[in-house]
Amino acid sequence: MENCIFCQIAQHKIPTQLIYEDETAIVIRDLHPLAPIHLLVIPKQHYASLNEVPESEPETLGKLLFLARKMAIEQNIGESGYRTVINTGADGGQSVFHLHIHVLGGSRVGVDRMTKGL
Ligand code: AMP
Repeated sequence: MENCIFCQIAQHKIPTQLIYEDETAIVIRDLHPLAPIHLLVIPKQHYASLNEVPESEPETLGKLLFLARKMAIEQNIGESGYRTVINTGADGGQSVFHLHIHVLGGSRVGVDRMTKGL
């Protein structure tokens, strides 16, 4: 998608703090972290939101979740704990309309962060 910031990041057209990349996904640090560790797990394929992933592609969501777990372990928050969040649509607090999973950890994630609309 031409005007999608995460597509541009995935295509290396915009600089970012890249943590991981494979053929289907990238992991970057969030520009405005809400926790000591705040990563975004992003598929390279453009899906505007969770709503756009076809039910015929369960492996797409499975891979992203397993990648979120792998990144948490690699960032040493696998044991201390972390939160995974997918915001969907306006009321869900989504601001970038390209599917992504937030991975937050490194300190106790409070209830306030549930209500601030990550
Ligand atoms: P959401 O509100 O769930 O759509 O989350 C979008 C997230 O993307 C926010 O936490 C932003 O801080 C983050 N973000 C926006 N632009 C960038 C960027 N260029 N690099 C890294 N993170 C970004």
